[in-house]
Amino acid sequence: QLPPPVVHYQMNNVTTSSDPIGNRETVLILTPMVKFYQEYWDNLLKLNYPHELISLGFILPKSQEGNDATAALQEQVKKTQSGPKKKRFASITILRQDTELPLRSQAEGDRHKLENQKPRRAAMAKARNSLLFTTIGPKTSWVLWLDADIVESPPTLIQDLASHNKPIIVPNCFQRYFDKEENRMAVRPYDFNSWQDSLTAEDLASKMGPDEILLEGYKEIPTYRSLMAYMADDAKGRDPHKEMPLDGVGGTALLVKAEVHRDGAMFPPFAFYHLIETEGFAKMARRLGWKSTGLPNYFVYHYNE
Ligand code: GDP
Ligand code: MN
Repeated sequence: QLPPPVVHYQMNNVTTSSDPIGNRETVLILTPMVKFYQEYWDNLLKLNYPHELISLGFILPKSQEGNDATAALQEQVKKTQSGPKKKRFASITILRQDTELPLRSQAEGDRHKLENQKPRRAAMAKARNSLLFTTIGPKTSWVLWLDADIVESPPTLIQDLASHNKPIIVPNCFQRYFDKEENRMAVRPYDFNSWQDSLTAEDLASKMGPDEILLEGYKEIPTYRSLMAYMADDAKGRDPHKEMPLDGVGGTALLVKAEVHRDGAMFPPFAFYHLIETEGFAKMARRLGWKSTGLPNYFVYHYNE
């Protein structure tokens, strides 16, 4: 039997609500990936959001590292999609990047060097945009950006974030490490891209050339922005659902109503109001009328290299 010649989608039936499971809302999980971490995959499998409502999309570079990660990913995809029906995802797309990031070493120290940031973040932005524009569909309600090196995240991640019913919402991304002085494991902030703007930063930006960008987390350029990374409350009596408004967001874990992307908010690979990639995305969304929210007490954890 032939498929119908025209498929109609009523976009106002694609809801994004605080009860995404009750309303059977579809979630597209997007991950740019250069290394495959088993913990990341295991956490995807442990998501207790109905898997038949989840689609996955990946983009990997065409480097040796990217080839290895693709092979590891494909093996897990095969296992999951031929395993128990309840665990299978609705669909999985793997893209290979047409270009490589302009940086050979992917070590944490090198990636975070100030002079490497602009070309790196621009290339990351393009990778995110390719992934987004090739995978978003007429039924997508939510887009969850989740980096491949997020090795700890709760099984209720999607519904926890969605319950706030915000156009853009971002948890706090920390990292576990061994504290040598205290001789025990401890946690520290990892992602500094979720922030509230400051007068200093606005002033710095106003004096910049059109292609210059303002980066966060570098002592060479103090911005005095309020970083969500430092705004987590003490463990005692901490409310994981506490919200704060944000002007910039990080992309390690980030839930976006698909409508925000459909309106045209993407990851600028160029200086947009002196911001780039995920921070530029928050700004572009804001210009389209969508605000960003942070959850300083809700944690996901980044791998420690
Ligand atoms: P950082 O943690 O902010 O320093 O950034 P990462 O280097 O971890 O990159 C963020 C995400 O993009 C992670 O999921 C990486 O696996 C992925 N990534 C890093 N480099 C590349 C690349 O060249 N191509 C693609 N497609 N993904 C990449
Ligand atoms: Mn990372």
